[in-house]
Amino acid sequence: MDPVYLDYNATAPLAPEVREAMAPWWDGPANPSAAHRHGQAARDAIERARTRVADLFGQGAEVVFTSGGTEADNQVLWSACGWPPAGHLVISPVEHPAILEPAGTLAAAGVGVSLLEVDRHGRVDPDGLEEAIRDDTRLVSVMAANNEIGTLQPVAELAERAHVRGLPFHTDAVQAIAWSDPAQLLGDADYVSLSAHKIGGPPGVGALVVRNGRDLAGWIRGGNQQRGRRGGTEPVALAVGFGAACARVARERESQAERVRELSLRLLDGLRAEVPDLLVTCGDTPRLPNTVHLCVRGADGAALVARLDLEGVAASAGSACSSGLRHRSGVLEAIGLDAEHRAGALRFSLGYESRDDDVERALRIVPSAVAGVRHALARG
Ligand code: PLP
Repeated sequence: MDPVYLDYNATAPLAPEVREAMAPWWDGPANPSAAHRHGQAARDAIERARTRVADLFGQGAEVVFTSGGTEADNQVLWSACGWPPAGHLVISPVEHPAILEPAGTLAAAGVGVSLLEVDRHGRVDPDGLEEAIRDDTRLVSVMAANNEIGTLQPVAELAERAHVRGLPFHTDAVQAIAWSDPAQLLGDADYVSLSAHKIGGPPGVGALVVRNGRDLAGWIRGGNQQRGRRGGTEPVALAVGFGAACARVARERESQAERVRELSLRLLDGLRAEVPDLLVTCGDTPRLPNTVHLCVRGADGAALVARLDLEGVAASAGSACSSGLRHRSGVLEAIGLDAEHRAGALRFSLGYESRDDDVERALRIVPSAVAGVRHALARG
């Protein structure tokens, strides 16, 4: 029997319609900059894919394809600070490393970086933004939804407040876009980072969506592709797949969000009933409908994930990208969890392919796996 896959926040399986859309483009030749008919066909395909991504946002969204969410996040920060880097950035402490790491590099180069405070659910208070903004602030960047604990940020309100102060606003919507209507959640954000592989598209492609006619400096320089905003031959098959994944999101998001919310609540209720001494992280705050984050007292998250893997459930101990490296979770520290709770962090994340049976099987497997890990740790 296939393992139960509950790690969609790390990556989602490729959707069959995405595979089908990409199929004709693998063999090439497909360089969209070439002048001949092959180039023209590739160019048309790229532009159609661009429109499908932009359509998620309505009028006036310009799509710059990148290699993924990480590159989009890096680009928007570096673009805001210019060269040599200068000015000031406002971010939150619960951002993905794709924001925190480049912000750290920019800080080392002399850029001021302020971290907004978050509450115990990891949510930013928009009032705090006023105080954080300085005369030399170049950009405010707060993620739409947290990849570890699932907390949604008041992005529309934050964007509005940044605009009142004449500042552009960026949001990393890599996790949010599968579940939330951009008009409602993202409001008038100027820059939005996206990643295809979180929504049933292929890994290796994403986008920085530029809105409101804002500037964006090219970060990867080379050819004049994408009007100089991102040098490098566009990966036609990947971009086409990304476009198809966005079209699926546009079509299915609403119904999937409702269905998956019910499934994840059933998982949560079942685990609460069967596993003693469980802390449900951010239970009563606006959050992603697919993410169940728990702290299992007296257990080690990595040991739990390994045990669950053996028993046929794919889950995660920490942030999607870093859990394999046993990276310390800054998010759990930022929301004030103590070391014991942080050590037992366990995340289940569901997706468009999750079914009732996945939840039922997980509920049969997880409680005894937790008991086994706790027992082993208690015996030393
Ligand atoms: N931002 C968030 C919130 C993420 O969860 C991830 C991946 O886990 C990324 C950015 C990075 O995206 P990519 O894997 O496409 O580089």
